[in-house]
Amino acid sequence: MSYIDELFGLKNKVALVTGGGRGIGQTVAVALAKAGAELVIISRSGADETVKLIEKEGGKAYSLIADVTKEASVDTAMAEILKRSGRLDVVFNNAGVCIHKGTLEASIEEWREVIDINLTGEYIVARAAGRLMIEHKIKGSIINMASMSGSIVNIPQWQASYNASKAGVIHMTRSLAIEWAEYGIRVNSLSPGYIGTPMSVDTPKELKDAWMPLIPAHRMGKPEELAGAVIYLASEHSGYTNGSDLIVDGGYVCV
Ligand code: NDP
Repeated sequence: MSYIDELFGLKNKVALVTGGGRGIGQTVAVALAKAGAELVIISRSGADETVKLIEKEGGKAYSLIADVTKEASVDTAMAEILKRSGRLDVVFNNAGVCIHKGTLEASIEEWREVIDINLTGEYIVARAAGRLMIEHKIKGSIINMASMSGSIVNIPQWQASYNASKAGVIHMTRSLAIEWAEYGIRVNSLSPGYIGTPMSVDTPKELKDAWMPLIPAHRMGKPEELAGAVIYLASEHSGYTNGSDLIVDGGYVCV
């Protein structure tokens, strides 16, 4: 076994990625599989393409349809994972949405939708996974998807619900990390800056042009540039990293 495999390898681990049908979740799922994990992908519309990409690389994966906002749907998925894979070691709690609207224009339903998927959805998935890990004495790693928007207010687009949901994810992460430390379960969050995915690529050009001078790297990040961060947090090499928020944003929040 190489030194790198020894540090970061995920052989014999089962990893769940929510929202892995496209975007960041898809890229990270393929990377986790390349690091040796068996992958389970959850989304509302399926993730056959991600499963095919993993199988093409010689990895093992299957997808389950589930809605992270529905407790019963997530519980059914967890039961299926236990039945098919026998364990769950890593969760990349990634499913999320963003609505760009000023507070005076956005409806309460839009606020609720974003909070429901991004914050409550991650809570429902983390809770179900934590319960499973505790019951089966698994010292797992849960990585919650936050965003630099949990620490700064983006301009010029208004997105109060998104920013609040991601700030909530960062502090929920710290809370669960402390609550479950005694079981050896680690909970950390990842806070990317602007990353080129279906969520952000369809963004109007004027908006992207406004972002560029604010990003010290003067470019958007690629989903591939998040893979190493997630593999690090998933691996036993990060065994002393708990409750942290890993920022990968080209330097945005420093300015
Ligand atoms: P995409 O829109 O490309 O992908 C989002 C994924 O989430 C899809 O697979 C979608 O599948 C799934 N999803 C959405 N709602 C639910 C739900 N209720 N239940 C299950 N799955 C759901 O987004 P990105 O890849 O860009 O973003 C992924 C995460 O990264 C999000 O949490 C986002 O906030 C965060 N992020 C993104 C950044 C960016 O610049 N792109 C920057 C910082 C953070 P389906 O619709 O089939 O359910």
